[in-house]
Amino acid sequence: MIIAERRPIPEILQNIEGYEKVLVLGCRGCVAVCSAGGDREVAILAEALRLARTLSGKPLEVLEATFIRQCDPEYLEPLKKYKGEVEAVVSLACGVGVNLIADLYPEMRVYPGVDTSFYGANLSLGEWVEKCRGCGDCIIDKTAGLCPIARCAKNLLNGPCGGSQGGRCEVRKEMPCIWHEIVERMKRRGELEKLMEIWEPKDWRPAGGDGLRVRIRDDLRLNGGN
Ligand code: SF4
Ligand code: SF4
Repeated sequence: MIIAERRPIPEILQNIEGYEKVLVLGCRGCVAVCSAGGDREVAILAEALRLARTLSGKPLEVLEATFIRQCDPEYLEPLKKYKGEVEAVVSLACGVGVNLIADLYPEMRVYPGVDTSFYGANLSLGEWVEKCRGCGDCIIDKTAGLCPIARCAKNLLNGPCGGSQGGRCEVRKEMPCIWHEIVERMKRRGELEKLMEIWEPKDWRPAGGDGLRVRIRDDLRLNGGN
C-alpha cells in the first residue's frame, strides 16, 4: 500500500492561514489503512485546526468528509457540493488524490495534509517498511522475490557492495543487507549460479525516466477506447 504521514500541523495551518472555512477531506484507501488519512485522522486534524485557530483569535470553520478513494474521478464527484462552500480543501489522501483534485477542480484550492512516503508493507502495529519503488520493470523474479531497488540503500543491481558485514547494511546497520539475503536465499534454492548471469542494463524508462508514466488498457475501456 501507499504509506503516508500527516504533515506537521503548523505547516498545514500556514497553508490555510488566510481562510475562514475549509474542508478536511480523508480517504478510505491506503492512507486510512496506514492511519494517516482516514475518518479518525480527519476528525483529529479538524479539531486540532479549530483549536489552534481559536487560540490564535482567528476562528476557523472546518467541515469534515472522507471519500472511499480520492484517486478516482468517480469517487471525487461528491466534492462538487463543496464548490463555493469552502475556501480550501486540506486533503489527507496521498499525492495522487491531491493532484487529481487539482486537475478536476482547478477552481478549488487544495493543500496536502500528508506527506506521501513510499510503497510498503505493514509488518506490525505501527510499523511500515518500504518494499517496492514502482520501477515499472520488475526484476525480483531474478532476486528470489526481494527488491534491491527499494531495499538496498545504494539501489545496487549487482550486490552486495563491499560494505556488507555479517548480513547487515553498511549504510543502516539496523537493516539487513538485502543483497546478502538474496545471495543466501538463492544458495538455499540451489540457484546461486543464476546470479552469475550478466543482466542487460536495466531499462529505467518505465520508472519514469521517459517522462510521465501512463498505462492504457483498451480492453478495460468503454468502446475499446474509441
Ligand atoms: S523491481 Fe521494481 S517493480 Fe519490482 S519490486 Fe522492485 S521497485 Fe517494485
Ligand atoms: S550493505 Fe547491502 S543493502 Fe547496504 S548498501 Fe551495500 S549491498 Fe546495499
